[in-house]
Amino acid sequence: MPLVSMRQLLDEAAKGGYGVGAFNVNDMEQIQAIMGAAKETNSPVIIQASRGARQFAQDRYLFHLILAAAELNPEIPIAMHQDHGNSFETCKSAIELGYTSVMMDGSLKEDGKTPATFEENVEVTRKVVEFAHARGVTVEGEIGVLGGVEDGHGAGGTGLEHITDPDQAVEFAELTGVDALAIAIGTSHGAYKFTKKPDGSVLKMDVLLAIHKRLPNTHLVMHGSSSVPKDLQDVVNKYGGKLKETWGVPVEEIQLGIRNGVRKVNVDTDNRLAMTGAIRKVLWETPEKFDPRDYMKPAREAMQKVVAQRMSQFGQAGHAGDYKPVTIAEIAKGYADGSLATKPLVSAK
Ligand SMILES: [Zn+2]
Repeated sequence: MPLVSMRQLLDEAAKGGYGVGAFNVNDMEQIQAIMGAAKETNSPVIIQASRGARQFAQDRYLFHLILAAAELNPEIPIAMHQDHGNSFETCKSAIELGYTSVMMDGSLKEDGKTPATFEENVEVTRKVVEFAHARGVTVEGEIGVLGGVEDGHGAGGTGLEHITDPDQAVEFAELTGVDALAIAIGTSHGAYKFTKKPDGSVLKMDVLLAIHKRLPNTHLVMHGSSSVPKDLQDVVNKYGGKLKETWGVPVEEIQLGIRNGVRKVNVDTDNRLAMTGAIRKVLWETPEKFDPRDYMKPAREAMQKVVAQRMSQFGQAGHAGDYKPVTIAEIAKGYADGSLATKPLVSAK
């Protein structure tokens, strides 16, 4: 199956009332782990690459690895997504390469660190939407700023400094025509999200519910949504790692989000932890080993296990064959003739 539009994946997820995990990749083993899990659970999937990943792997390697995943798994709809594009140019280069979806994170300036103004965010996001939709490519925007830094991207600090304002979210969705909207509700990128199990004082699910009430048909995106489970941290630390105690976003809170408009859930840290734990275990227990396959195979298996678990928890499992993906060219026509709405439905407060 060719790569499909993320908009279609999310529209179908909304119909089915489930969320779709968006998993970050940097290399072949991670792509194979995700596809193994998608096959095992019969799930549609979003594979995403950050700017850091594109640099690490080089664009052509990563693109062709994901194409190989599509070729080998014709029954699985796969959207290929640019995570946290920092500028029009970054998004344009992804679209020209063949990505079927991009995130324009205009919540930060091009340096990927400094919070941008609302007007700056609207302007650059709107520009990406025009370019992308003409080519049938999906756009995710962000309003509000997440905490933490990952891959050199982020404003730092806790997630509480720039929580999304629901009124601004409505205005942003109307002005930009984005297909999906990332919101800041207290989560952060990276492993260190919360210093204890998060409650409503730090994880603002009430803000998410308020935004969904105003924008009932807009696909919401949760970033920084690894759960950072203790058992994965424990494996890393048991075999010589030095992770500090930390908490992520509990799966039940993500599921509450999914019942309230969240259609895309970004997960990276959990997979990193699973792979690192598995590699450490092999090297610790059998220090005489030196064939990379001896530790990359268990690493890939550990990641596949986490991804498959998330796919079941998010509800996307079993939905790969629900619909026939349409081509990106047809999606472009839909944007052009208005059959794919770009104006959000807005409800009264
Ligand atoms: Zn993110």
